[in-house]
Amino acid sequence: TDIADGLTRRVENVTDTLSETLFEPVIRLGVTGLSRAGKTVFITSLVANLMDRGRMPGLLAASEGRISAAFLQPQPDDTVPRFDYETHLAALTAPDPRWPDSTRAVSELRLSLRVRPSGLLAGLSGPRTVHLDIVDYPGEWLLDLALLDKSYTDWSAEVLSRIANRPQAAAYLEQARSTDTAARLDEPVAQSLAKGFTACLHAARDAGFYDCTPGRFLLPGDMAGSPALTFAPLAPPDSPPRKSLWREMERRFEAYKAQIVKPFFRDHFARIDRQIVLVDALGAIHGGPQAVEDMRRAMADILSAFRPGRNAFLSRLLMGRRVEKILFAATKADHLHHTQHARLTAIMAALTREARDRADFAGAETQSMTLAALRATVEETVRHNGRTLDCVRGRLLETGKQAAFYPGDLPEDPARLLTPARDGADKWLDADYQVMNFAPARLTLRPGEGPPHIRLDRAAQFLIGDRL
Ligand code: GDP
Repeated sequence: TDIADGLTRRVENVTDTLSETLFEPVIRLGVTGLSRAGKTVFITSLVANLMDRGRMPGLLAASEGRISAAFLQPQPDDTVPRFDYETHLAALTAPDPRWPDSTRAVSELRLSLRVRPSGLLAGLSGPRTVHLDIVDYPGEWLLDLALLDKSYTDWSAEVLSRIANRPQAAAYLEQARSTDTAARLDEPVAQSLAKGFTACLHAARDAGFYDCTPGRFLLPGDMAGSPALTFAPLAPPDSPPRKSLWREMERRFEAYKAQIVKPFFRDHFARIDRQIVLVDALGAIHGGPQAVEDMRRAMADILSAFRPGRNAFLSRLLMGRRVEKILFAATKADHLHHTQHARLTAIMAALTREARDRADFAGAETQSMTLAALRATVEETVRHNGRTLDCVRGRLLETGKQAAFYPGDLPEDPARLLTPARDGADKWLDADYQVMNFAPARLTLRPGEGPPHIRLDRAAQFLIGDRL
């Protein structure tokens, strides 16, 4: 009977899936970006604004009044953590609103929309249900794709040379140098090396470096402490003996690739139809030339995941399947007066240009945009020393005080940010460009203060509008 039960269940599953794909289209929307890019806030606000209709005029199906209902449903994947929408929304809508906890691992949420068809079909058929499966995952995990092509020896050599001159890496480099890598594996030594290397990655990240592979060292998810995460880059000894520390590190590096990186791409990445890549470009600009350059390189690496031709494993996995649309979005646009938004969009396009020039993402449609998933500011023009300044005003996170704030002008020509200064000086934008930390505004702005987001509706139109 177990077998019969199993069979019946399987047949039911198959028919469920069939009727779903025949009558209820599913869009799998991937949301990614490096840590702090704004993924959690984006998803929470997108879902809240879609459920509370009337605030998404740039989404045609919404402005045409064709979305008759939007509701959350159990997601199709039983083993993927659910995106904690209610908790995040509660943080943002509390009387004293807080920013929600950031993305640490992959999670998923299904939003279902009842949509009346448009155009010729409008009178002929009733509303249909479109499922939007939102998959949230750290951009750091995409950086791991490049590891698949590398041996432990190559990877170690590359990392050690990249971090050789970084002050944040000094402690780890010393630790690695003074370790006898040909000695028999001693687990505490391996753990201490992994810990030292992880600390080095965190310090690098805090200093504004974005290329911090292996991605799980920064965001381990539920893998923290497992052997596959207990390795570190080490120069190979001459003919490392079996069971030596170095051999075991090599084995774990391979386990990381086979048991962590590949399953992520197979189970999550390969099934995405539409993708948004969020970028805290303002944060990088604030960090200075080094941070911008590093961000540009990290973007190129992240985006190589969307050009599967370059990677044998991914090509085999996708078998011709592709992401149909990719949106590159600079987040936190509410830190800037709208007169600066076009410049930020140009910077965003420039940041991703190299990657886009090299290939057209296997035919995916791409666009760059500047948005704020949650407006924390209002605009204000103030006179200062006889000049008028276009400012933004918000409540400061640290003090809770209101402040109007002029962050400085972004350059009109993005090349000024992306080509390191010739004279070698760390000269950065004329005004010292600044970023402030604003507390979130309640998700309800009063009438006359504008919508609670900036261009979230246009992002939604680009990503899913054609399927509604
Ligand atoms: P994640 O790591 O990609 O999930 O990033 P989060 O969504 O947690 O965002 C990180 C931080 O960026 C938040 O805590 C906010 O401080 C800030 N942030 C994100 N989105 C916005 C936005 O639309 N406006 C403003 N002003 N700040 C934002």
